[in-house]
Amino acid sequence: MSESVNFFKYYEANNKIEGRLAYNYSLAKSSWLGVGGNAEIFYLCNSKKQLIEILKKLPKECNRTVIGQGSNILIRDGGIKGVVIKLGKIFQNINNLDNTIIAGGAALDKIVAKFSEKVSLGGLEFLSGIPGNIGGALAMNAGCYDGDISKIFICANGIDYYGNEIKIRKEDLKFEYRYNPLALNLIFTEVTLLAEHDDQLSIKNKMDKINIERVLAQPKGIKTSGSTFKNPASNISKMKAWELIQRTDSHHMSLDGVSFSTKHSNFIENKQNKSANIIEDFCNLVQKNILEKSGVELELEIKIMGIRKKDK
Ligand SMILES: Cc1cc2nc3c(=O)[nH]c(=O)nc-3n(C[C@H](O)[C@H](O)[C@H](O)COP(=O)(O)OP(=O)(O)OC[C@H]3O[C@@H](n4cnc5c(N)ncnc54)[C@H](O)[C@@H]3O)c2cc1C
Repeated sequence: MSESVNFFKYYEANNKIEGRLAYNYSLAKSSWLGVGGNAEIFYLCNSKKQLIEILKKLPKECNRTVIGQGSNILIRDGGIKGVVIKLGKIFQNINNLDNTIIAGGAALDKIVAKFSEKVSLGGLEFLSGIPGNIGGALAMNAGCYDGDISKIFICANGIDYYGNEIKIRKEDLKFEYRYNPLALNLIFTEVTLLAEHDDQLSIKNKMDKINIERVLAQPKGIKTSGSTFKNPASNISKMKAWELIQRTDSHHMSLDGVSFSTKHSNFIENKQNKSANIIEDFCNLVQKNILEKSGVELELEIKIMGIRKKDK
């Protein structure tokens, strides 16, 4: 038994788990791509106090990973060592105070957008189109249609991987495009976002517009993780990732059931249930093809996690 499993077996024998603890837990369903190995320990956490206690007591060398709704992750077939933490229901609260929305880390983006419509606060409409939860959105600096988290971020509460509570202010955080440097070893438990008074109909119309555009531009009902590659910085290429994919004819590439969606050339469509290796290999092949044909090295937007299993 590993040190991590030992710790959790001992902890659960002596404490009531608020949430859920599972061992050797399949993560395939925790990722929108529908593949991936097991978490050595999966902890669906429903108490902030217990999360802090566990993180403080868990030996430092034990691996910690946090996931949200799994809409931006590829979990490798060898699974994830140590504990995989997912925030549970008690982290889904949403409130408003003056011109701010305060959302728990596990609140779904689209529910946060709906809530802000209900209380006549605008500025968060873009969230209605992003799958995932607010913790994941902050970790990824998620955004669309000119809006992203960095533009409305005021502050957040987090817990570091060793159980220390951290308050994050805007000035502490240097967001980049689809990147938040603090997401490497922090769990975002609550996020405060700036909003502005608007009337409900105008907010609703903006959200409807976003969602109509998304239905037209994005595939539905497929196993995907949204944009596979980040758009390159403008000093590297004026073309967006999807344009580079098309220009280099990469949108016609495929590998054992993995290809790009015909509706959106930067969205992977995973039609196989066998392995995450195939998806990772497909990404590498595409990256190489684009580099060779355009000289641009695209960076993955998808987060790859865990241990690669040897190909058979
Ligand atoms: C169909 C589709 C459309 C998409 N469209 C967009 C889009 O328009 N714009 C866009 O930006 N993205 C888009 N995405 C990608 C994805 O939805 C976002 O990146 C989303 O914010 C990820 O949130 P999540 O909860 O699913 O996080 P996950 O995918 O579970 O995790 C993503 C990263 O966030 C970290 N993380 C998750 N929760 C927390 C937390 N509480 N604290 C700290 N770190 C955390 C994880 O460790 C991981 O590194 C799309 C994805 C899909 C499948």
